Amino acid sequence: MYQPDVHRTDGLPDSVTIYEVGARDGLQNESAVVDVEVKAEFVRRLAAAGLKAIETTSFVPATWIPQLADAAELLERLGPPPVGARRPVLVPNLRGLERALDAGAVEIAIFGSATETFAKRNLNRTVDESLTMFAPVVEAARSRGVAVRGYLSMCFGDPWEGAVAPKQVAAVARRIVDLGVDELSLGDTIGVATPAHVEVLLAELAGVGIGPGILAVHFHDTYGQALANTLPALRAGVRTIDASAGGLGGCPYAKSATGNLATEDLVWMLHGLGIDTGVDLAKLSRTSLWMAQRLGRPSPSRVTRALAGQLAEEATQAGGQSTNHETAAGRDGAEPPRTAKGADDA
Ligand code: MG
Repeated sequence: MYQPDVHRTDGLPDSVTIYEVGARDGLQNESAVVDVEVKAEFVRRLAAAGLKAIETTSFVPATWIPQLADAAELLERLGPPPVGARRPVLVPNLRGLERALDAGAVEIAIFGSATETFAKRNLNRTVDESLTMFAPVVEAARSRGVAVRGYLSMCFGDPWEGAVAPKQVAAVARRIVDLGVDELSLGDTIGVATPAHVEVLLAELAGVGIGPGILAVHFHDTYGQALANTLPALRAGVRTIDASAGGLGGCPYAKSATGNLATEDLVWMLHGLGIDTGVDLAKLSRTSLWMAQRLGRPSPSRVTRALAGQLAEEATQAGGQSTNHETAAGRDGAEPPRTAKGADDA
C-alpha cells in the first residue's frame, strides 16, 4: 500500500496522541442508527489499528441523542479497557456520571461552549449555568480517580453569533481548567478556523496560564482547513489531536457532509512528517471502509478514498474473494454504493 515518504522538519514532535472520536462524535452525527454490536466491532477494529485513546459513547439522555442510547450496553460488550488504553465517554451531568461509572467507564468528558447561543442550544443553559452544572461532575469524578476531559465548543466561530473573540474563549477555557479537568479540547465546531487564528488563540490561552500541555485540538474540515490548522497547533506544543476515523460525523451546524478531520488524513500527514502515531494506516483505512459500508455511504476521508482501490486489490491478491468483508468494503469504498443515503453525497 502506498505510504508517504518521510521528510522531517524542525519544530515538530517525535510522537503525537491521536484522540479518536469516530465512535462517539462521528456516529452521534450520522443519521443512521448503528447496531450496538457493529459499534463494538468498530471500537475493537480501531484499537487493533493502533489507536489508544478512543472516545466510545455518550451518557446523555437517550432522548437527546437516540444514536447513542445503547451506551451502557456498548461498554458492557467491550469490557474494561486494556492496560494503557483510554476509553472516555461523554457525560452532561451527575446523573450521566453515575450511569457511566455504573457501566464501567474510567474516564469521562464534559462539554462546554465558548458562546452563549450554543450553550443555550446544546445544554439549554447559559455558559455560567453550564459551568455550575459541570463543577460537581468534575469533582465527583476526580474524587473517584476518574480522569476528566473538557471540551470547549465554538472556539473559532459560532453559526449564530459569528466571530468569537479569542479573549472570550480564553476566559471560558480558564474557568473549565479551574474546575480541575486533565485535558481541554478546543473545538472548531463549524470548521472556520485558519492557521494564524489557531496561533492567536493558543497565544491568548498561554496569556491566561493555559499552556499546550493540557490542550487538545478538535478541528473540523468543513472548509478544508483542518490539517492546515493542525500544524501550527503542533508547532505551539499541542500533542493531542482529535480526529474521526473515515471523517465520520458530518457537521450538524453547517449542513455539510464534511465535518470531523478524518483520522487517516491526519495519520498520512503525521507519518509523512516522521511523527509517530502508533497507528497502522492500512488497518485504519480498512476499518473506515468497513464502517462506510455499514452506513451505506462513502467515507469522506481523502486518504481512504485514495487507498480504497489498492486495499481492495491487496485483499484480492491475499486470496480474499467477494465474500471477504474487507474486500467487499474496499470495492464499495472505491465506488460508493448508490443507496438512498449514499445518493445525498453525489
Ligand atoms: Mg467534532
